[in-house]
Amino acid sequence: MKGTVLYGPRDVRWEDVSEPRIEQPTDAILRLPATCICGSDLWPYRGLMPIPAPAPMGHEYCGYVEETGPEVRHIRPGQFVVGSFATSDNTCPHCRYGYHSSCVRREFMSRAQAPWLRVPLADGTLVPLPEAPPPEMIPSLLACSDVLGTGWFAADAAQVRPGGTVVVVGDGAVGLLGVLSARQMGAERIILMSRHEARQKLGREFGATDIVAARGDEGVAQVKELTHGVGADSVLECVGTQEAMMQAIRCARPGGHVSFVGVPHEVRLDGTELFFSHVHLHGGPAPVRRYLPMLMELVLEGRIQPGKVFDLELPLSAVAEGYRAMDERRAIKVLLRP
Ligand SMILES: [Zn+2]
Repeated sequence: MKGTVLYGPRDVRWEDVSEPRIEQPTDAILRLPATCICGSDLWPYRGLMPIPAPAPMGHEYCGYVEETGPEVRHIRPGQFVVGSFATSDNTCPHCRYGYHSSCVRREFMSRAQAPWLRVPLADGTLVPLPEAPPPEMIPSLLACSDVLGTGWFAADAAQVRPGGTVVVVGDGAVGLLGVLSARQMGAERIILMSRHEARQKLGREFGATDIVAARGDEGVAQVKELTHGVGADSVLECVGTQEAMMQAIRCARPGGHVSFVGVPHEVRLDGTELFFSHVHLHGGPAPVRRYLPMLMELVLEGRIQPGKVFDLELPLSAVAEGYRAMDERRAIKVLLRP
């Protein structure tokens, strides 16, 4: 079959790769009706994260179970399933505390930008639906696999509460779905920091009440003004840069909660500033598996439509153009179909 392989900065190719097969008795093989490109794929694409070249790409997935290994008990061929970008056994102590993305048997998924995929630890990683979903729901179910799960974790880790004031730093798909998540959790005021009109518009549709276009000190000053000099109860950092992290910490009120879900790149924190900021910090790779059953339910009930973050759809064979569109910020998030 063909699959997506990154060779180096801005060199992504659609080429022959080995077909996935059962390797461990706990594996499952999925057929993917759609897949997508993640904002985090842009780090290695831009050469900002070293990769063992050539690297097979893609870690967001949902699809039909085609085959299972002999030790898979709960996942069956024919089911439609969604899984996380991190595999989990769902039984170890970290999983039981809800931190599936720190599972002792964790593997980070790759190779999902392809028509077929092998998923390790199928029973603990995959969540099945009672029946196959209508085709129009597939993009929103696919979004649960990473961007929505990560946006939800960002809101949860920042302790968003009914009536609270929230700031979201980052207007990528995760930030926008952090807005949606904060709205679902009952936040009263949601300030999205964004400079891009299309993203501001989708942010408002998802529940943002205010937009701050300024960044850095000026952005912080505007948030302070909007919150009567106090700062926000909850701040979601959805980028992973030094500037975004400092902006997030400085937007929070003393005693407020800051989450960080963008993979940090060269972020350094000053102990003294952190000490006097009085904020709670909580971040990491989102334990998406914890939230999957609930998020899939919200999608199936039609209460949320996270699939709206896909604003460009391409055939899988045009994956290289998809990377270019996201790199140049012509697209928020690209959906790929076989
Ligand atoms: Zn585990």
